[in-house]
Amino acid sequence: MKYEAVIGIEIHVQVRTESKMFCSCANRYGAEPNTLTCPVCLGYPGTLPVPNREAILKAVRAGLLTGCEIAKFSKFDRKSYFYPDLVKNYQISQFDLPFCKGGKLRIGGTGFSGEPLPEKVIGITRIHLEEDPAKLNHMGSASGADYNRSGVPLLEVVSEPDMRSADEAYAYLAGIKEIMQYGGISDCDMEKGQMRCDVNISLRPAGQKEFGTKIELKNMNSFRAAHRAIEYEIWRQAELLDRGETLRQETRGWNDDSGESYLMRTKEQAHDYRYFPDPDLMPVTFTDAEIEAIRAELPELPAAMRERFLRDYGLTEYDAGIMTQDRALAAWFDRAAKASKSPKLVANWIGSELLRMLGEAKCPIDECRVTPENLAELVDLIEQKTINGKIAKEVFPEMFETGRKASEIVKEKGLVQVSDSGAIAEVVAQAVAANPAQVEQYRSGNAKVLQFLVGQVMKLSKGKANPQLVVAELKKQLD
Ligand SMILES: [Zn+2]
Repeated sequence: MKYEAVIGIEIHVQVRTESKMFCSCANRYGAEPNTLTCPVCLGYPGTLPVPNREAILKAVRAGLLTGCEIAKFSKFDRKSYFYPDLVKNYQISQFDLPFCKGGKLRIGGTGFSGEPLPEKVIGITRIHLEEDPAKLNHMGSASGADYNRSGVPLLEVVSEPDMRSADEAYAYLAGIKEIMQYGGISDCDMEKGQMRCDVNISLRPAGQKEFGTKIELKNMNSFRAAHRAIEYEIWRQAELLDRGETLRQETRGWNDDSGESYLMRTKEQAHDYRYFPDPDLMPVTFTDAEIEAIRAELPELPAAMRERFLRDYGLTEYDAGIMTQDRALAAWFDRAAKASKSPKLVANWIGSELLRMLGEAKCPIDECRVTPENLAELVDLIEQKTINGKIAKEVFPEMFETGRKASEIVKEKGLVQVSDSGAIAEVVAQAVAANPAQVEQYRSGNAKVLQFLVGQVMKLSKGKANPQLVVAELKKQLD
């Protein structure tokens, strides 16, 4: 590649709070349009904003989780522009004194395309808090404004232009999402618009220090779309540069159906926002002790959790990745692993049986009837050879349906594994007597028939015989 791509990303994340940023209206997605509004978030003259303490604490938490420096003195500013989604003709945002500055995010592991991604640190310039504008819904030739979204607390996370490929951008987006979710800051549901991103891309000849002309990409509604859009845009800009054309600074949209970006506006139409401090809002101050108190409450992040799972529970990287794919699952696994003598086997059961059944039942892990302790008990019953794996797979669906303990079901149904050598020898003898043809085949050298005979013994024992002992006994009786 003759050119090097330089990529920076601005992410908007809706903060999960009970109420909106500057009024007491509910912060809730999916209500009838314009039912969650009041004079403040509708921008009536003479109304006064009151900042949401929870949103500010979560902004600080986001900063601490990304290694930012937290401002002891910051303020809100008015960003002036006119648009139908903006009731006051200004948005309350933060200009020169954001809550958080100078953070970083480490990316690496497996990239979007499945190839390993070299480890790299992406700088975070700043994280500030603002209010979301209303949502415009376009219906044919008409448009409607839904002010339920007006005033929802919104975090803007601005990265340094540190990314060089679509894969790195994808990893950064996924990393920020993970932190926001684990930190309890946002649910980041992109379909509900809780996480949105704008990407800046420029190309420069490989080896050149100065940046090329920056083009902003908007309207990507998934990480996959963002990845596609970046790859497309790198290709498009390279084509133009190859033809000797000069790029102009512009904002482009992304059409995921056609797989193309399109011009939205050029720099000449860019806004001058005329920021100034909001006279209705007091500056926000933090003492060191207050910041340390928030730091003390920070949750463990997935990267640290994965390392702990590898170290303490002996999981593979792959299993640790699955167990930490969301915060609730990670907490569930952690509890089960602590309660069990075989955490690795617990992870196997979650990764295979439990996640499959939860998926089929469309049941979130928080509502699962099986408790972590009950799964731990089931796994320990297998490990102690009280039951075998086959019986465990029969018991588990009942645990899933009813929430009952494995030991109860096993006892009630008489499923305890038979490891008594006398009893096993007896069933093996029955199976040998009942299948003379297969016995003959085995004796004349067809070793594969053994599996059939094991199956016959298991059937006769109603699945309760210890399979290892059955194999040993069969070999003994057949030799
Ligand atoms: Zn309101």
